[in-house]
Amino acid sequence: MYEEQAHSGKLTNYLRELGTYLDSYLEFDQPDAMANVDHWRNALNQPLPDRGVGLDHVLKELGQTVIPNGSQIPRPGCTSFITTGASSAGILTGLAASVAAPQRIGLHAFNLLEEVSLTWLSDLFQLRPEMKGVYCSGGSVANLLALGAARQWTFENQGVNPAEDGVTKPCRIYATDVSHRTIHRAAAVLGMGRKAVASIPTDAQGRMIPEALEEQIKADAKHNRIPVAIVATAGITSTGAIDFLSPLAAIARKNNIWFHVDGAYGLPGILDPKVKALYQGLEFADSVIVDPHKWLGASVGIGAAFVRDRSLLSRAFAQGEADYLEGSFTDDNIQNSMDSMGIPYQDFGVELSSPSRGAVVWALLREIGKEGMQTRVCRHNAMAKQIAKRAISHPKLELLQEPTLSICCFRYVTENEIIDNTQDITEDNEQNLNKLNRLIHRQLVHNGENIPSTAMINGKLAIRPCFIGARTDWHFADSLVDEVLRIGQDLDSNLT
Ligand SMILES: *Cc1c(COP(=O)(O)O)cnc(C)c1O
Repeated sequence: MYEEQAHSGKLTNYLRELGTYLDSYLEFDQPDAMANVDHWRNALNQPLPDRGVGLDHVLKELGQTVIPNGSQIPRPGCTSFITTGASSAGILTGLAASVAAPQRIGLHAFNLLEEVSLTWLSDLFQLRPEMKGVYCSGGSVANLLALGAARQWTFENQGVNPAEDGVTKPCRIYATDVSHRTIHRAAAVLGMGRKAVASIPTDAQGRMIPEALEEQIKADAKHNRIPVAIVATAGITSTGAIDFLSPLAAIARKNNIWFHVDGAYGLPGILDPKVKALYQGLEFADSVIVDPHKWLGASVGIGAAFVRDRSLLSRAFAQGEADYLEGSFTDDNIQNSMDSMGIPYQDFGVELSSPSRGAVVWALLREIGKEGMQTRVCRHNAMAKQIAKRAISHPKLELLQEPTLSICCFRYVTENEIIDNTQDITEDNEQNLNKLNRLIHRQLVHNGENIPSTAMINGKLAIRPCFIGARTDWHFADSLVDEVLRIGQDLDSNLT
């Protein structure tokens, strides 16, 4: 019986063993999980065990069967998702927090680091000092919290408490077709409904057109819709473009509408002097979100929402008194870390139990500082520019959108036809190119060295690398372009 062991045993030896397995995984010289799928599916897909096998055995299975068949996402050449493999400081501190502070509440060092690191983030991204934050699981929930604050403020101005009474009138949230879909989900969860989200027309780069926003606001006013928020994106997920923050902020102020900036991916871009000017207007944001589990290199599960008045979050999300905690805490005569809950983060969002995420962000910034983060962001942005430069100068490549941040959308082009088609010539060729680039992308994924994603840019299928991981360095910009050319030319020579 191994029940006893769950309570005892030193971590040191286990950590050493786990470390060996993980280091070997991070060499990325093993085949992809699907290469021996039958083996691990059969080994792992077992019925609930009656008797335990003990931790030694579990660790062995973890190291031999689970870890080697993990994800491709942490690979330095994997640029498809905006989330990446965590950097070592994030991994280690996340582990430490799970041991020493399994909850962020209480008067202990981890609770303090929640606030310290939120303040660091706010300083790093040059938010106004009154912007206060809260951690949550990622950009999805961060957008939900920010829009919850927006809803609270808007309805309180009308004499209604939406947290108590619900949404009493039809609402409007102003976004675009390329806004992240979590905005729509947040609108649904907050009782405003997905249809409350208006898609304001955009320019060729997907940026909201300010004049079109003003028109829509006027039209909605006639129909008595309550404007709840204007949602700008700093770092659009598909292309990295940044909305015109200043004019959008001005429209928000003129119409007394909450101004939200979704910087889940792109907020750290403000550290790059070459694009910093595009963040003008951020200082007028009522709420801003950023995902430390994207550019900062935290392990997945860490987002942050900043709001100009955290009491709005409290009024929107506090769970209220509960018998099961009644009398457990006191705010006078504090002597013990369990006397008080500390800053009541549990009331600023939708999680009561929550890991201590602040320590992870603290460690990341403590390790490399503002300068280190800046170097990483500038390197990744320059890598996207490098791809753009090669795409412009090579006759077989086409740049589909000038990069703003660390995303570059480009494609392989040829005059040769892949499919027989009787439709008009230009459309034929566009369909051919989309098909060809889809094939190139599949081949890239299967080769495994460079794994970008694809994105549709005005009807054209782009190869879309997003450089974001701490381990992703210069080599991967050129190696991706070289590989696209190699695969493209191979396919090309087999066409008619
Ligand atoms: C990634 C992303 C989100 C969603 O964040 P998750 O952490 O995946 O929940 C929201 N908005 C933007 C702009 C993003 O890039």
